Amino acid sequence: MINIEQKEVWFITGSQHLYGEETLNQVAANSAAIVKGLNESSLVPVKLVHKDTVKTPDEITQVMLEANNNTDCIGIITWMHTFSPAKMWINGLSILKKPICHLHTQFNAEIPWSKIDMDFMNLNQSAHGDREFGFIMSRMRKKRKVIVGHWKTEATQRKVGNWLRVALGWDELQNLKVARIGDNMRQVAVTEGDKVAAQIKFGVSVNGYDASDVVKHINSVSDSDLNKLLKTYENEYELTASLKEGGDKRDSLIDAAKIELGLRAFLEEGGFKAFTDTFENLGELKQLPGLAVQRLMADGYGFGAEGDWKTAALLRAMKVMTQGLDGGTSFMEDYTNHFTSDRDYVLGSHMLEICPSIADAKPTCEVHPLGIGGKEDPVRLVFNSPKGPALNASLVDMGNRFRLIVNEVEAVEPEADLPNLPVARVLWDPKPDMDVAVTSWILAGGAHHTVYTQALTTEFLEDFADIAGIELLVIDDKTTLRQFKDTLNANEAYYHLFQHGM
Ligand code: MN
Repeated sequence: MINIEQKEVWFITGSQHLYGEETLNQVAANSAAIVKGLNESSLVPVKLVHKDTVKTPDEITQVMLEANNNTDCIGIITWMHTFSPAKMWINGLSILKKPICHLHTQFNAEIPWSKIDMDFMNLNQSAHGDREFGFIMSRMRKKRKVIVGHWKTEATQRKVGNWLRVALGWDELQNLKVARIGDNMRQVAVTEGDKVAAQIKFGVSVNGYDASDVVKHINSVSDSDLNKLLKTYENEYELTASLKEGGDKRDSLIDAAKIELGLRAFLEEGGFKAFTDTFENLGELKQLPGLAVQRLMADGYGFGAEGDWKTAALLRAMKVMTQGLDGGTSFMEDYTNHFTSDRDYVLGSHMLEICPSIADAKPTCEVHPLGIGGKEDPVRLVFNSPKGPALNASLVDMGNRFRLIVNEVEAVEPEADLPNLPVARVLWDPKPDMDVAVTSWILAGGAHHTVYTQALTTEFLEDFADIAGIELLVIDDKTTLRQFKDTLNANEAYYHLFQHGM
């Protein structure tokens, strides 16, 4: 998806000259050992680079300037082994453009009761050094991640690793180009938004193209590429009889393969890692791209249907965050409700475009009429998705700010087979229950389009919202309607006062 090995995070240890050379040498050695330990952890996906201990305002400013200018550096981690008077950090922190994580750890885990003396106390000062450092960032209203825990523990390493994944997603957005093939679905509100504000806020650039830009690539697809891809379809999926060689719908599969090859060529030529389409602007495309979009998502592309560029960009960022983790991530839509006497559920799906990374088994490859858009019958992959914890995330434009809404859900097995439903789908139980979850979602203006992930937890998106400086609303097992409404009201005032949004 991306080349993680090329990326790095800088580990910056703060101190001052007051302690003398011997202590500063020990500080440097200890912080190098922490970096080595974190780099050896399988939970930490990005290489940490140990930087010289910073002891003066000039050294701090210099390392922040270098971090800003280094394109491989996706963020910094800071730690105050000793006391580092925080006025020294003001200039450096004010110019820092990269995400920052404040790791509140300590070189030794426990107090050595029988040996502890004042030398030990002078060396191991993060308990107060990190508080001084925390104050200045709070005083400067600087958003950052704070992680508290001993660096050798799995819990701390996991938190560091997860934050690095979010920083990778953020780094991806800074260079992301989204191609909109066609415009927004006519008259739809929630998929619209301010693309200029989005570029200022998230870095992502969103620009419009025409179906003819893709068709041009479709027309130059070679027979050998086409035959190779048809073989891939035969190997990776259960093709229904009509799509197999000699089947009466074989031409539909050939058209779908040409669309995939053409779309891939278009995206590669333009350097796009995310895209949208819409059934109302298909031009000369014979089918609404289904199989092609599903397979591109599985390869890590962001996608949003009906011109939904916000979801396309969010999906790409979240796909990058999940690289190497178990569990899939897909474009999703709340499609149909299942109200029962016991509990209520939502069936998530889309007309075609659900990513097979969330499939529970080998997908079947089928062709059915769409009943919308007036094109030929599109080919699509059909599958169920495994049960277990997941979440839906929706990014909406509130006019003066972007709002990210997250609902934790529990995917469950459908009560019965769905032999006549020709699309991939997931059934979930939204937390805390259907009533509170969906009432809150609707009050928040959450979209019908979401990113559905089994690989990320809410904490990833909380960190993402902090890095982006956007509003986050979480609906989980602790949500109550009254508290949620209060949060909505409080946030209106907060974002009006501070104009963080745009
Ligand atoms: Mn839709």
